[in-house]
Amino acid sequence: MENISLEEKDLKYIWHPCSQMKDYENLPPIIIDKGKGIYLYDIYGNEYIDIISSWWSNLLGHSNDKINNAIKSQLDKLEHVIFANFSHTPAIELSEKLVHISPKGLDKCNFSDNGSAAVESALKMAFQYQFQKGNTKKTKFMCLSGGYHGETIGALSVGALDLYAKIYEPILIHSIRIKAPDCYRCPFNKTRDTCSTECFMYAEYEFEKHGAETCALILEPLLQGSAGMRIYPKEYLQKLRKICDEYNVILIADEIATGFGRTGKMFAFDHAGVSPDMMCISKGLTGGYMPMSVTLTSDEIYYAFYDDYNKGKAFMHSHTYSGNPLGCSAANAVIDMLLNENIIENAQITAKYLTEKMNERFLNHKNIGEIRHIGLIHAMELVVDKKTKEPFDAEKRIGYEIYKKALKKGLILRPLGNVLYFNPALIITKEQLDTSIDIAYNAIVEVLGE
Ligand SMILES: *Cc1c(COP(=O)(O)O)cnc(C)c1O
Repeated sequence: MENISLEEKDLKYIWHPCSQMKDYENLPPIIIDKGKGIYLYDIYGNEYIDIISSWWSNLLGHSNDKINNAIKSQLDKLEHVIFANFSHTPAIELSEKLVHISPKGLDKCNFSDNGSAAVESALKMAFQYQFQKGNTKKTKFMCLSGGYHGETIGALSVGALDLYAKIYEPILIHSIRIKAPDCYRCPFNKTRDTCSTECFMYAEYEFEKHGAETCALILEPLLQGSAGMRIYPKEYLQKLRKICDEYNVILIADEIATGFGRTGKMFAFDHAGVSPDMMCISKGLTGGYMPMSVTLTSDEIYYAFYDDYNKGKAFMHSHTYSGNPLGCSAANAVIDMLLNENIIENAQITAKYLTEKMNERFLNHKNIGEIRHIGLIHAMELVVDKKTKEPFDAEKRIGYEIYKKALKKGLILRPLGNVLYFNPALIITKEQLDTSIDIAYNAIVEVLGE
């Protein structure tokens, strides 16, 4: 083996995700050796607070004893088995639990191995459902502007973030985009307190025009994560539920980022008191341990595929690692902990503390336009001018500059453009949040001044 540093070797052989690799010339990848709780440790022993839960996936801390043990004991029994015609106890137990904790009316679990794949599965199912119901003109998907549903061609087609999708436009499926709520820069000049979901008229407009040709609408409920942690009211979901029913459009909830307590309830849809027809989950599902995802559907949808084999109605879709037993065992441990240890309830108490402290510390800063939050997720939008809400020029990469400063001080922030956010494991303590706030504040001041 070549005698160069690990960092050099990394860059010689690895093409990292979602990165301009040239950036690594100045800031090589940090090589992580181990993790415990909310902390990560690099090979030189430096400690970092993982305030973004390793891409929003690490739900209950790194190297969690109960999840570790669940995977270890499963590993000694069965690592994997084909999931067509075969099954296993961890998947059966997990599916029962998922149906039990999910919004009412979600009855069946279809397994994939990452979030984008769960979305692909939902889109294909929705189309095939409508087709098999005789609604052959329903061939379009609807989505919200600013939405993010993953990186595969289908998922990108219902995503609406130019940063990820623009270049591929010529090869994407054409989807109908509804102008999404934008509660910080409300086009109706309302605030969160005075809102009556006026912007729902954009949805009504698109449904009137395209509802008849639409098979399904997909959205991130209450929180558009990748768009910059944009948070919108539950009334919007309730209205969408109604209009989807009127136009016979399947409502797909992408709860990949919002599921498992991230928003203060088990699922974001629980806030709205209505159910989607399908739900995609991943990220927190295994506590951030194993690549696994599930598409849940109603029985109504499931039975549109249920017939004699030769009718050709089955959902002929598979992934090699569907229902992987190690992933299921991790997910079972996660759900058991969420249900038995008051984790979501306690995280809500911590969240309230975080809201107070963040407001105290950041709200008066000249460049912090808004602090918005749901559950433990707290986001700060940086602006040039608080009155006009003028955003920083993206080319300045203000977020990235702050990220680099915070990293030196031991906090992993990884902003979305001009939006800094905390999305920590649900088990984070008030003291750990205090430290994170201190570091974030100092990093902001180093880049933008007091
Ligand atoms: C992360 C994410 C996805 C994609 O999941 P991957 O596992 O990265 O493919 C889809 N939708 C939402 C809302 C996400 O946050």
